[in-house]
Amino acid sequence: MGTLRAPRRNEEMVARLEDTVDRLIFGSGISSPPVDIEAIALKLGVVKILRRDIDSDAIFVPSPDTPAILLNSSHNETRQRYSCAHEIAHLLLDRNEFAFRGMEEASDRKVEEFCDEFAASLLMPRYLLSKYLPAHRLGMTDIMRLATLFNTSVTATARRALTFSKYPGALVYTIEGGNRDGTSSVPRVKWQVVRGLKHGKGRFHVLAKEVEAGRSIIARAFEANYTCGGLENLMVGPTKHEFFVEAKHFPARSGPFVLALAFPTDSQPNERGDGVHK
Ligand SMILES: [Zn+2]
Repeated sequence: MGTLRAPRRNEEMVARLEDTVDRLIFGSGISSPPVDIEAIALKLGVVKILRRDIDSDAIFVPSPDTPAILLNSSHNETRQRYSCAHEIAHLLLDRNEFAFRGMEEASDRKVEEFCDEFAASLLMPRYLLSKYLPAHRLGMTDIMRLATLFNTSVTATARRALTFSKYPGALVYTIEGGNRDGTSSVPRVKWQVVRGLKHGKGRFHVLAKEVEAGRSIIARAFEANYTCGGLENLMVGPTKHEFFVEAKHFPARSGPFVLALAFPTDSQPNERGDGVHK
């Protein structure tokens, strides 16, 4: 069993990030999905976006006059868009156009996490995504519809949609490649997100429940030939809790990949519908 961890989020950083993205989006005149990510890069002064046979996802070539972004030509368009957005974050950091408390001593890993978060925000801006979010609890078909609309990966879309959904829920997914050799019925779970809860205490409560539930959800998804949905009573510590669970298998080049949404049925929608943002 892999380790489960909740993402560490700096509230101040998140708020600034969303505001920065809104400015970029409005400044670029973007009013409907999918976000024209290359137009934003060019508007920010990137002179060239090139597709090349490179080992990494993308490379940002900093230069005061002629900054460029190289994208991996073997990746599909959706992935290239994400990589391009990630490099835009590097560009803004490089120009000191974005900073948050603690950024100066941030580790490389922290910077990369930030760039990933920024990329997801840029491809699925708060105001644009909110327009297309369903009023009901998110389902897998909603995630798929949004991913197509925004031309974004299913995982990134699910994370982002849960962030702004009224319904506190969790996203659980297997490590890429999962349980390739089939020696265990329970693949490793990468991590999960709990969203939409206003109070820290409540958040921890639900997180504790879902950490355990996440394992069962993934296990059941595998047992049920990768697709299941409905109400599930899952053991969390000594007690049973009811969740509405939907899990789906996605074929991936590197192996089976399972993504699951879980909503505790005993929690109420957040009226504000603005997720973790206060
Ligand atoms: Zn990076």
